[in-house]
Amino acid sequence: MTSTISLANVSKVYSDVPAIEDISFTLDEGELVALVGHNGAGKTTLIKAILGLIRPTAGTVRVLGEDSVSGNLGVRKEVGYLPESVSFHLALTGREVLSFYARLKRVPLDRWQNLFDQVGLSQSAADRPVRTYSKGMRQRLGLAQALLGKPRLLLLDEPTSGLDPALRRSFYDLILEFKREGTTVLLSSHALSELEERAERVVIVNQGRKIADGTLDELRRVACLPTHIRFKPSASAAVDTWSNGSVKWLERKDQFLEADVDHKEKIAVLSAVTSDPAALTSMTIIEPTLDDVYAHFLQGQGTRP
Ligand code: ATP
Repeated sequence: MTSTISLANVSKVYSDVPAIEDISFTLDEGELVALVGHNGAGKTTLIKAILGLIRPTAGTVRVLGEDSVSGNLGVRKEVGYLPESVSFHLALTGREVLSFYARLKRVPLDRWQNLFDQVGLSQSAADRPVRTYSKGMRQRLGLAQALLGKPRLLLLDEPTSGLDPALRRSFYDLILEFKREGTTVLLSSHALSELEERAERVVIVNQGRKIADGTLDELRRVACLPTHIRFKPSASAAVDTWSNGSVKWLERKDQFLEADVDHKEKIAVLSAVTSDPAALTSMTIIEPTLDDVYAHFLQGQGTRP
C-alpha cells in the first residue's frame, strides 16, 4: 500500500538557518498524527515541504505516491491545508471565499454547501463579509476551505488556536469523522492536553530534528516514566503485603497512600492492591501525560531562541 506521506531524510536550510534536518517518517491512510515542538522547532517548515510550498535542500517528499503536490493538480485536489495564520480578503463574504477556493481547487462548490454547518458557521454568517468575523469564525472558515473536496490528506497548522473550548471539541469531532472515512491528518499544535486523547501517534521535533515518533503509550515506555497510583485503604486492608519490589507508598494526611510505580511493575502492583476489593475505598491511576512525555524528550536538549 502506498503511504499518504513519505519523507526521507528531508532537510531545509534558509540562508544559514537549518530549519529542519534529516527528517524521515511515513503517514498511512486514516492516521491522525500530531506534530509537536517548541516555537521555531520546524513544524511549519515541515508542513510547507510536504505541500511543496518550499523545496527541501535535501531529501525526498512523496505525497499520495507523487513527488510534487504543488505541480500536480490531481494530488493538490486531494490535499487540504489550514495555515498557521489564516487571512482572507476582508471584503468577501464567507460564501465567496469558499467559492473562490473551490474554483481554485476545481471542486464543485454546490456539493460542499453543508461545510458551513459542519464547521459551525451559520448560513447568515456565510453571507457576511469576512471583516465582520471574529478570530474563531475566520479559523472555522479556514477549516471549511481545507475540507473542500473531502481531501485524502489534511495538513493543519495550529488549527485550534483562537477557538474556545466548545469549538475545539466540535473541531476535533469533525476531524475524527474525516479520519474515520480514511483521511490522513497531520496536525501541528502546542495544545498537548487536547491531542492526548485524539492523536494516535505523536511526532516530536526539536531544533529541526525528529526526536521521538510513536503512540503515546510507546513514548511513555521509551521514556520510562512512572505511573502514579493513589488509593485509600479500608480499615481492614493489609497494606504491608502490598509493598512489592521497589514501590514505596507514601501516606498522606487524608489517609491516601500514593506511589510512583515503574511501568514494568505497574500490573503486578495493581493486581496486589486490587486482589481484595474490600480493602480499598477508592483508587486513582494517573499515567504520564503528553506534557510529561514531551518534557522528558526535550530534557537537556535546549531549544532555539
Ligand atoms: P512556531 O511553533 O513558532 O510556529 P515552527 O515549529 O512552525 O514554529 P518554523 O516556522 O518551521 O517553526 O521555523 C523553523 C526555523 O526556521 C526557525 O528558526 C525560523 O526562524 C526559521 N525560518 C522559517 N521560515 C524562514 C524563512 N522564510 N527564512 C528564514 N528562516 C526561516
